[in-house]
Parts: sequence; C-alpha cells; structure tokens
Amino acid sequence: MSNFEPKKTIDISLSLEEGMITYPDNPPFTIEDASGPTSSRSILTIGTHTGTHIDAPRHVFKDGKGLNKIPLMHYVGKCRVLDLTKAKEAITTGDLELFRIKKGERILVKTRNSKRGFKTFYDDYIYLDGDAADYLVKKGITLFGIDSLSVKKRGGSDHRPHLSLLKKGIVIFEGLDLSKAPAGNYTFIGLPLKLGDVDGAPARAILIQ
Ligand SMILES: [Zn+2]
Repeated sequence: MSNFEPKKTIDISLSLEEGMITYPDNPPFTIEDASGPTSSRSILTIGTHTGTHIDAPRHVFKDGKGLNKIPLMHYVGKCRVLDLTKAKEAITTGDLELFRIKKGERILVKTRNSKRGFKTFYDDYIYLDGDAADYLVKKGITLFGIDSLSVKKRGGSDHRPHLSLLKKGIVIFEGLDLSKAPAGNYTFIGLPLKLGDVDGAPARAILIQ
C-alpha cells in the first residue's frame, strides 16, 4: 500500500437525504435546522439501518456482538462484484456456484435492484435465498453486500440470510447502489460510523480500481 494511488473510485453508497426510502417500520431520515446566529448547524435523525449500512450480529441475536466488536479490517480490502442481474426473484446457490467463490472473499451482488433504482420502496426486491446464505457460510466469505435494504425476503419466514451469515461473523452490507459498478474485482472500503455497542450503522462504501 506504500504508493496506493487509486485510478478510479465508484461511490456505491445511497445519499442520505430527506424523503429517501427506508425499509418499512424504520424511522425516516430527517435534517432539522439548528443554526445559531453566526453559524449553520443541523440535527440528523437517522436509523441504524438507514441507507447503505452494516448489520451487526446484535441485529438478530439478542446477545450478539455489537458493531464495536467487528474487526475494522473486514471493511477494507479486495472484493468482487458478481453480476446477478439475471436472478428473477432470489439469489440461489445455483447462481453463486458459477463464480467459484473462495474463502475470505468479500462478495457484493449486483442484481436488477440496482437498475430499478432507490427512489421508491418495493416489496419484490431481489434477496438472498436461505440455502444460498448457508452456501456462502460454507465457502467462508468475509463480507456479503447486496443492493437491497434487506438481505432477506420481505416478510419471509426463512431468516437464514441474516442468521447464518451473522452467526459466523460475516459482515452484511445492505443498501448498496451498484448501478455504476460493472462486475469485476475491486478494492472495497466501507466504513460504518463509529457508534459503539449497537445493532448496525450507516456506512460510506466505495469501490476502487
Ligand atoms: Zn440492516
């Protein structure tokens, strides 16, 4: 990393702005003016799962690790964006098997969610199938990212996409915008706000070539 000079950066984070979509039952994002006579200031209202964010094990396990227990090195390093834009409803084991995923990889999946955009919330977003989550655990990946606000099916009873990955300490990124990221290899940087012992946190995520 001594002469680390990125050629190109791709921002894969959602913009935090009023009116942005949040997953149902999550608080809306707001910015309130709190300016003083000589300076501008604002108050933000933001959920831990708003926009591009990380799920910590605490999100689904009552006594699971909080954000502050996730090693920082998980968030930085080589990653691969997989083209799964052909997936119809969910990402399945069969879809993933084609990519020869190796131990320790950071895997981001680009689906047609990125093409549909992030202006309105819709229930039939592409999600990770439970068996596919178990497959990724078996492969021993480090990080999994998806271009939907939840890794699991909306209202679905199979909770393995969260449970299996988080039980093994695999970092989950949700709410990635991969519309400008062609499939391929990158360096990933996705740092959550330093919030402490909580269930998740908004993050700024970028890809570097
Ligand atoms: Zn989340």
